[in-house]
Amino acid sequence: MSEHTGRVLRFSRGIPPIEAIPGDRLAEQVRAVLDEFGPTMFQYPPIGSYLGDPALREQLAKAHNADPDHIVVTTGSLQALDLLATRLLTGDSPLVYVEGPTYDRAARIFERHGARVSSIPVESDGMDIGRLRDRLRDEVPDVLYTIPDFQNPSGVTLSGEKRRELVELAEVYGFTVLEDIPYRRIRFHGTPPPGLGEIAGSARVITIGSLSKVLSPGLRVGYAVSDGDTARTLATLSEGVYLSPVPLCQAVAARCLRLGIVDENVARIVDLLRPRHDAAEAAVRAMIGDAMLAVPGGGYYIGVRLSVDEDEQSFIDRASREGLALIPGSAFYPRAERRPPGELFLRLPFQSLTPDEFEAGVGRLSTVISARTRL
Ligand code: PMP
Repeated sequence: MSEHTGRVLRFSRGIPPIEAIPGDRLAEQVRAVLDEFGPTMFQYPPIGSYLGDPALREQLAKAHNADPDHIVVTTGSLQALDLLATRLLTGDSPLVYVEGPTYDRAARIFERHGARVSSIPVESDGMDIGRLRDRLRDEVPDVLYTIPDFQNPSGVTLSGEKRRELVELAEVYGFTVLEDIPYRRIRFHGTPPPGLGEIAGSARVITIGSLSKVLSPGLRVGYAVSDGDTARTLATLSEGVYLSPVPLCQAVAARCLRLGIVDENVARIVDLLRPRHDAAEAAVRAMIGDAMLAVPGGGYYIGVRLSVDEDEQSFIDRASREGLALIPGSAFYPRAERRPPGELFLRLPFQSLTPDEFEAGVGRLSTVISARTRL
């Protein structure tokens, strides 16, 4: 096995490339907000504003065609997930269904709240709904968590048909769906299916949104769109921990939404990332095409499922010696689940690599795969 001497290529973090963040535009808005509101931006927010900045909630309500009183602003969408877990996972041994694979931090939040977390496998068009139906006959979860668009980590999108089936199952069996949609607007090809919240039009579906991938993750602005009762409960919970999200960040976010800076930035990000996506897809198709779960068409990630009869850590270590940093795919599954032997999942983020770097990374990956095959 060669010890790689070149630069390490990282198929690891899913953060925006710095050029996707409109630094100058954000700085202008910070100044404008301070000119308009002065030192009150550095005061405690007024009592009764714990749902979040009213101007921001008004913008978010417009974007989601929702009542502003149904929206609560949180410190990033992860905070919304944590508060929702507190609100919804109240029984003795609550059950959460997630996609397999799923967003690792979300799975860890549910586990920390004492839930049994169980995965339903994803297919090229999203969660396997047949499998979900079977599981529902055994046990109905308190919550089903899904990332319906360009899923982190697999890149798959839930089809329109499956979205309707999922909402119908939630109504029939009476469980809550949490849809997490940070990548929804980062679309390079095709037309978007309707959101689960739009299909349901009821409190059965709670939508969790974020400005991290369309404007700035450092602002830490996320939100949940639910019903008035849930929104008030989440606001009371957050008030008890950190009072409210940072006023300055919320006011900047509100201006960026109102002045069309978010829309402009989405268009810029799509132009920036589309060539990276297209080149990444071509590289994966050419070198390990059978393993690709789906052509994402948006977002940050291509997911691959490899038939590798090898211990996961040993595979990751061999990749590291080839100059390739990978996250063990098992991180994207509930801790209580053992991975099926012979199968290895990997997330390949393309958003921060140039086409040449990504292609070189997949080249190294295919070397790691074939070296094992020859053992
Ligand atoms: N949900 C998903 C599916 C994500 O991929 C991420 C960020 N990688 C988050 C939530 C967290 O977003 P935020 O920065 O809004 O907390």
